[in-house]
This record gives sequence, structure tokens and C-alpha cells, in this order.
Amino acid sequence: MLEYATAEQLAEGLRGRVLTPEHADYDDARSVWNGRIDRRPALIAQCTGVADVITCVDFAREHRLLLSIKGGGHHVAGTAVGDDALMIDLSPMKGITVDPEARTAHVQAGVTIGDLDHETQVFGLAAPLGDCSGVGISGLTLGGGIGFLSRAHGLTADNLLAAEVVTADGRLVRASETENADLFWAIRGGGGNFGVVTAFEFRLHKLGPEVLTAQIFHPLEDAGQVLRFYRDFMADAPDEVTSFAVLLRVPPAPPFPEEYHGKAAVSLFACYSGPAEDGKAALEPLSEFGNPIVNMIVPMEYTVLQQSFDPATPSGARYYWSSDYLHKLSDEAIDTIVSCIEPFPGDLTTVALMEMGGAIKRKDASATAFPHREAGYDFNVWSGWFDPSADDQIVEWVNGFREAMAPYTTGGRNVNMISSAAAKWSRAAYGHHYERLAEIKRTWDPHNVFRVNHNIAP
Ligand SMILES: Cc1cc2nc3c(=O)[nH]c(=O)nc-3n(C[C@H](O)[C@H](O)[C@H](O)COP(=O)(O)OP(=O)(O)OC[C@H]3O[C@@H](n4cnc5c(N)ncnc54)[C@H](O)[C@@H]3O)c2cc1C
Repeated sequence: MLEYATAEQLAEGLRGRVLTPEHADYDDARSVWNGRIDRRPALIAQCTGVADVITCVDFAREHRLLLSIKGGGHHVAGTAVGDDALMIDLSPMKGITVDPEARTAHVQAGVTIGDLDHETQVFGLAAPLGDCSGVGISGLTLGGGIGFLSRAHGLTADNLLAAEVVTADGRLVRASETENADLFWAIRGGGGNFGVVTAFEFRLHKLGPEVLTAQIFHPLEDAGQVLRFYRDFMADAPDEVTSFAVLLRVPPAPPFPEEYHGKAAVSLFACYSGPAEDGKAALEPLSEFGNPIVNMIVPMEYTVLQQSFDPATPSGARYYWSSDYLHKLSDEAIDTIVSCIEPFPGDLTTVALMEMGGAIKRKDASATAFPHREAGYDFNVWSGWFDPSADDQIVEWVNGFREAMAPYTTGGRNVNMISSAAAKWSRAAYGHHYERLAEIKRTWDPHNVFRVNHNIAP
């Protein structure tokens, strides 16, 4: 247990608040997106700037306290929070400055996807991000970051121009192609292993305010044909098209026919990130295939598109995810997916596939620490539910699905989407870059101060 006087000492050195377990806001501040995570830090420091972060890193080192870092608190493994740790809570750090001429954004570490889209879209610009508004920019970027603009403009990390990092010995450094280039390489895919990133500088792209979108739903019994069609469609799709095939429950509201409400279905979501008039021809084949129950190719505000998965991923529900990469989407892989769907447990469950071509593949595979560019598809079984008594059954279903798909997977896993932070997954997450990352870890964090994460041992 930490002495009261010790907590007071930290509080005196900070501009932000320090919360002990007795504080009325402690439970709220320690909670993260996944309701299955229930960890109790010794102290929570709600940092307002770089000075607070440096003070916390020095304090944790001096008092031999475990340190955890919370960006947006959305990692399914709950690695933002550790038992008996000092949690550096970056969520008050919300500053964003957009330079519309240079098409760049300077973004503090507590910003979410929704915050950044809001600030960039007013200038008709966007950074390639993920596609749920509450997700933190921090974790997203450090792990890679895949979303609706990825095939056109690459991963979130591919659009990082520079970062400001507080190191394990309490210094502030800049990382870019020309400053601390090893660190810059490592933080684009190597997770939060190398320091506390306090700010990111992103390249922005012209986009919106409206983009052409497709949202097409088919009955579950057509899943095999729809997934084959999706594969063939994406084989020739221009880079402006990023598209997901998603198995999910049909929302209980119009325009969905009542007989499908709450039932599992297969859907195709797509975004065309070029001019809408070119997008019509590119997306049209999606609406011409099969017998969809809902068939919409419509222009939509980009910020609305970016929130379209929010209702299916509420904070505080229970989640267990598996995330893998497929070499390709073979007929056998599709048949296996179809055979594993039932019983499709959990109200918030989705199974999602995304083709990984375009700008993701064109980037040199050794240019950043993200190691999965050779994969054909990102493949995720994301289960979500409310009743704790269903935990075992649902975890078993997800694990069984994963095992059945093993013959088709690359062995790599998305560091941003692994439900467990157990050491055995780190190799799969960092792949062929693991050794180089470990070497950089030895330079920047030789004593493994930053280890509440998918850890790279120094
Ligand atoms: C609903 C939902 C939708 C998602 N959609 C997508 C998607 O479309 N595309 C995609 O690629 N991913 C997606 N993800 C995964 C997401 O990218 C990861 O969960 C990501 O880690 C979240 O970042 P965070 O800052 O919110 O997480 P946190 O839980 O706060 O942090 C995650 C990890 O990063 C470390 N970390 C956080 N901030 C910092 C920092 N500033 N410096 C150093 N280390 C830090 C933490 O220690 C922790 O280990 C989604 C997740 C959810 C829950």
C-alpha cells in the first residue's frame, strides 16, 4: 500500500488531479471500455501536460511503482490499467491544432477518433483513423490503425509525421524520420513499449464533408456466396474503396425489415474516399449482387460514417476478441467461417473481414514496425455481451472459431485487438520485427518501465 503522504507528494507536483482509491471519482477513472476489466491502481494521475507526465514517470521510478498508460482506454485487454500501479491518465490532454495549409494536425495524447475527425473535417481534411469515435488516437496509432481510409492513404501510423515522447528516464524527445529515427520506427506498430507519447503530428488528406458509402445487408444463409463475392469484388477494387464484410445482428429499427431484427446477417460496408461521382461506378457492383434485405449506396457525412459502429460497441459491456490475419480468403476459409457462425452468441458480436491491399501494401514492409503488410485479410471475431454468466460459453466460442481458422491464418495477430496481454502473444503481434524492437527497447527502456502492455522484453 502506498502511504497517504506519498500520494500527497505526487499531487503537489502536478497540475492535474491525483485520485486515490478513496476519491469519489476513482471508480469512474479506473474503468475502461471493456466491462470485464476490473483493476485497482494505487494512484491515478490525470495529467494535463508534458510536465505532469514527466513528474509521474520520475515518481514511478523513484517509488518502484508499476506504471500504466491510459490513452482512450479502449484496448480490449484493458492494458491502460494495472493493479497497484500508477496510472498515467492522458484523457485530459485534448489539444488539437490543425494547419489547413500544410495539411497537418498536432494532436495531444488524450484525443479520440471522434475528437480528431471533428477538428479536421471543418477544413475538409481527415487523418486515416479507425472507425469508432471513442477509440483513443494513442493506442490506435502505436499499434498501426486500420479504418475506412486505409486502402487509399495507409495505416494511421503511416500518416504519423512526428511524435513527442517522454522517455523512461523522464526526458522529452521528438521522434521523426530525422530525429531519433529508431524510436520513430518503433512507435509505428510497436505499441506503448518505448515511452509515453504526449503528442502526435499527422499528415491529413482532403476528404468530405460527404463521402459515398455502401451499407448492404444479406440474410445469414447467403453468407458463403456474399463472402465469395466480397473477395472477388475487392480483387479489382480501386484504392479509394475500403470495404469490410461483417457478420452482425440486424439493428431493431427501420430500414431493416422487422423479421430480421436481432437476427445475425452478413453485411458489406464500404467507403469511397475519392470524388462521389467516380465512387458510384466503383461501389455499384456491391448493390447489384444477390438479394439484399437492405441495399443503400448513399452519400453520408464522413463524421457520421465514423460513428456508425458506435451503437454496437457501448462502453462497459463485456468483450472478448480474437484477431488474426488470413493469407487469402480461400473457398475453404469461407466455408469454415460459415460453419463456425452458429450459435453467434452475444448481442454485440461481430465477425469482420477487411481486405488489406492498396496503400497498406504499397508501403515498404520494413519502413515501420507494423509487421502484417503481407497478409491478405484482417480477420476478427469480436464478441460482446452483457450477462457475466455467459462469459465462459462466449470465450469458448471465440477460441473455437480461432482454432478452426488456424489453417488459413498467417500466425500474426493485431496488437491492438488481442484480448490477453500474456507474453506469449507478443511474438505473434510484433512478428518478424520483434528482435529489432527488442534492441530499440534496450536503448530507450532498458529496465522495462513501460511493461503494462503487449510487452517487448528488453
Ligand atoms: C470499439 C472499438 C473499435 C475499434 N476500432 C478499431 C479500428 O477501426 N481500427 C483499428 O485499428 N483499431 C480499432 N480498435 C482497436 C484500437 O485501436 C485499440 O484498442 C487501441 O489500443 C485503443 O487505443 P486507446 O488509446 O483507446 O487504448 P488504451 O487502452 O488507452 O491503450 C492501449 C495501449 O496503448 C498504450 N498507450 C496508450 N496511450 C499511450 C501513449 N500515449 N503512450 C504510450 N503508450 C500508450 C497503453 O499502455 C495500452 O497498452 C477498436 C477498439 C474498440 C474498443
